[in-house]
Amino acid sequence: MSSPRTSAPARRANDLRHLTPEQLRRRRMRERQRRRRRCRRRILLVLFVIAMLAAAWGITLAIEHWTGAPSSQSQSAPAPTAPPASQSAPPSSRPQSESTDVPASADPLLLLANKDNPLPAGYAPDLAYLEGGSYQMQSEAAAAFDRMKNAANATGLHLMACSTYRSVERQTELFNAEIQKWMGQGMDEAAAREQAATVVMVPGCSEHNTGLAVDVGSITNQRVEEDFENEPEFAWLQEHAAEYGFILRYPADKVEVTGVTYEPWHYRYVGVENAQKIKESGLCLEEYLAQSHTEKREDP
Ligand SMILES: [Zn+2]
Repeated sequence: MSSPRTSAPARRANDLRHLTPEQLRRRRMRERQRRRRRCRRRILLVLFVIAMLAAAWGITLAIEHWTGAPSSQSQSAPAPTAPPASQSAPPSSRPQSESTDVPASADPLLLLANKDNPLPAGYAPDLAYLEGGSYQMQSEAAAAFDRMKNAANATGLHLMACSTYRSVERQTELFNAEIQKWMGQGMDEAAAREQAATVVMVPGCSEHNTGLAVDVGSITNQRVEEDFENEPEFAWLQEHAAEYGFILRYPADKVEVTGVTYEPWHYRYVGVENAQKIKESGLCLEEYLAQSHTEKREDP
């Protein structure tokens, strides 16, 4: 492209011919210094880019650590019986809360439902009736409850199921009825909704929606009130429930973690192995899930 008469190398060679040897020597020295400076600038640029990439990677890791939400892992536990792909809520639909946002477990028996962790849309457990009754639970939990009830029976005690599985639709009816009640007393809808949520769990957030929870009473006390803790059935459950895979879900000393008041009547099926580990650890389900998640992350 350049003109044949005044090409850059030709001009340069022409210039050099007019220089004294001393000027030539200085000129070459300056060129060498310029090359060295260019080289140093390039090395610094490469180091800077590497440092920026490392910083970005570090920040990503820190965010994952503090939110407990690694982008590569699914956020929702699969339903016990349903195909996980169609039932999992997309991660973005899951409300995040700093207080009780707990990582989901891959174990369907450790499925978490609380005010910050609604069940995946379309969640539907496979249900079975409890022995001789009209109550339904998730099939494995139902069989375990029957075994537990019969074991208690053999010692002269009577465990009675007072409330078990409740569909999200039924939960919605109860919740809306509670809202209507408060609006009937003059509250606006937002305030009534807030008030209702303190009495009835928001649909999809109740453990009874999982099919894995049961409210237990005795023959003489089916009130599902705190005085159930005075019944011999409660003492027996404290001792033996874990052997059948059940935990006391809302203990008195975990109210701040679970966000639910002490419920000596409410038991949750998690499977025998999990129940025994949870009982030994003294943790509630939220804490246990958070701990197992941390342990898993620390594994090499
Ligand atoms: Zn309950």
